[in-house]
Amino acid sequence: MLCAGAGVAAPMRSPTAHAQSRPHTAAADTRGILCPECRSPLPIRAREPGEVAAHWECLTCHSQVAGVLLKDEATHAAESIQLSHLHFDTKGVPRLSNSLRQLVQEFVACRPKCADVEDRRTLPRAPMLLELSVVPVDENWSPCAKPILGMMINVGASGLGMVTGTRLDAEHAAVQFQSPSGIVQLLGQVIWSRDFGPGFHHSGVHFLLRFGRGAIADPKAISAGAPLN
Ligand SMILES: [Zn+2]
Repeated sequence: MLCAGAGVAAPMRSPTAHAQSRPHTAAADTRGILCPECRSPLPIRAREPGEVAAHWECLTCHSQVAGVLLKDEATHAAESIQLSHLHFDTKGVPRLSNSLRQLVQEFVACRPKCADVEDRRTLPRAPMLLELSVVPVDENWSPCAKPILGMMINVGASGLGMVTGTRLDAEHAAVQFQSPSGIVQLLGQVIWSRDFGPGFHHSGVHFLLRFGRGAIADPKAISAGAPLN
């Protein structure tokens, strides 16, 4: 996977001294660390030598904390954290071209007339035109490359479809976009990705987590037409 070697800056600071001094065992790792500021339990652990840590934001006190996500705990504790905005900094990232925007608009406009896979989904998706940022993540679900910009073209309870100007070459990715009620951050599996016109790429993402909210258990949490608050 391309992500494996791509580096993100070393942690801005280490997790708590408590976490560092704790003997390293598998059992200890499953508990996660405490936020150094507000002491809230977080579903992240200290990084191992050679691992890439992600920068997280404690959603209780908005402190920045470096560490590696505990995948198992994150499925029921993702409401306490979100990825730091540092990972979605698009400075220097190629902007969306007008030709991509036009192509996507035409594609979405055509969609309701086209009988295709969208109609056969158990959980239907609604057409949606929304700009988003996508960060490839590694096997630890830590961001491992610069974000890429794209446009969401549909969204439903279980996933979304999007078009990007850069190939998304990762098995998992974090997606961030602006909803009417705030920033939404999701982590999902990239189910498929293929070329979509000259220089454009069409991908499907199956949701696994919603940071700031938790596991994707309630279809109404992210449903077509419902406010993504
Ligand atoms: Zn905190």
